[in-house]
Amino acid sequence: MSNIEEKREALAQDLQQFLYYCDQAEEMITGKEVTPSPVMDFSSLVDEILPLPLDKDAPEGASMKQLVRMVQECTRCPLCETRTHTVFGEGALPSRLLVIGESPGADEDATGRAFVGKAGQYLDTWLTPLGLSRETNVYLSNIIKCRPPENRTPHVNEISSCLPFVRRQIRLVKPELILLIGGVASKALLDTDKGVGELRGRFYRYEGVPVLVTYHPAGVLRNMEELKRPVWEDLKKVAAFLNLTLPGRSR
Ligand code: SF4
Repeated sequence: MSNIEEKREALAQDLQQFLYYCDQAEEMITGKEVTPSPVMDFSSLVDEILPLPLDKDAPEGASMKQLVRMVQECTRCPLCETRTHTVFGEGALPSRLLVIGESPGADEDATGRAFVGKAGQYLDTWLTPLGLSRETNVYLSNIIKCRPPENRTPHVNEISSCLPFVRRQIRLVKPELILLIGGVASKALLDTDKGVGELRGRFYRYEGVPVLVTYHPAGVLRNMEELKRPVWEDLKKVAAFLNLTLPGRSR
């Protein structure tokens, strides 16, 4: 084990020990028996305090800050040559819901922010009635962090180059549920050839995290008549899983 790894392990143990001391202090102050604190996962805190050295080829151990920087400096695929800004993703940490789409569009490329264009604004109209927002409990991201020219579909090599960032991002966001919007995100993360029409309507798992699939808001905007109702059905599943109140219904 390297020196930094030993220090990280010792720090995690110290943090757990600190909880034990807190239990003891509470017992002394209150004079009552205190239920011992459970063993906690301090990995995020340890990442923040003692991050592993940045290795450009290994996002697996990166903290969120390191990952953002790795993406900003990334030249793994040709999209780095045409982007204005990388679009890492944004939202609350940890999040109840992680929404993953395809790739940044023109507005996102210009601002460096995820889902700020027309499709993003439409996505907000799906989330807001459920009490979900990027400010409080949702994280928004894409499979690809740089805009493909003319918004073309990302190539296979671009997706495979960017996936390690997304995989690490999911671990750091720690969502209760992942909602994959559109075929590109669904195929990439679920490693399947099936389309959204076939995939939606049931739960999958990604590294243990439940996953639902629905259509991309940009696609729904182009075909409201056909896709609006299925999306609403999918959003009802999201709401039920997260125990959220649907508009017009009291719990
Ligand atoms: S799309 Fe992903 S892999 Fe390609 S340059 Fe941007 S950050 Fe790097």
